[in-house]
Amino acid sequence: MASGKLIVLTGPSGVGKGTLVRALLNHHPELYLSISATTRSPRQGEVEGKDYYFLSKSAFETMIEENQLLEWAEYAGNYYGTPRTKVEEKINQGLIVLLEIEVIGAKAIKNSFPDALRIFILPPSIEELEHRLRSRKTDSESAILRRLDRAKEELAVSEEFDKCIINDDLEIALAQLEKAIFFDSSITN
Ligand code: 5GP
Repeated sequence: MASGKLIVLTGPSGVGKGTLVRALLNHHPELYLSISATTRSPRQGEVEGKDYYFLSKSAFETMIEENQLLEWAEYAGNYYGTPRTKVEEKINQGLIVLLEIEVIGAKAIKNSFPDALRIFILPPSIEELEHRLRSRKTDSESAILRRLDRAKEELAVSEEFDKCIINDDLEIALAQLEKAIFFDSSITN
């Protein structure tokens, strides 16, 4: 069977990666979205095994030691990582697998999956990113400030990725994403 494809969506927290991924999955239910592991506490409404696998720090560190993660990173005081087995299984079945992850992990994925298509989602401006982070009301003021600091570092490396898409108008960004995944043949890494 033909091997599948790994698509990595990255960009700063609050840029709308999650919204874009949900819209993409609505249009293309055949895509497989990897569920990450994290040591962050669940937010209201988040479901174990659907939004994340919520782990203790020691359980996460065991996964790192046992090489069970394709990539992992520390973000705003917590660990986040991609469990390896499911992703490899789905790719071997010929599926397109999506990762929605932060920038350090997205850079690291090149080591295990050199052929992955890595797409960086940009905000129209840093002011708009701050506005989006505040209006989703999921984080404390200190967490928002940490995420904004991190965003500035992340935006500085956007050009290292295969493709950048500005998420200003959701429909336009979605169309660009679909084009990159399904029609652009040149993966430039
Ligand atoms: P949040 O706490 O808002 O759910 O996620 C914080 C950041 O961690 C987001 O940028 C999100 O994309 C990223 N993230 C989620 N899962 C993973 C993962 O498995 N690996 C990495 N490196 N980042 C992740």
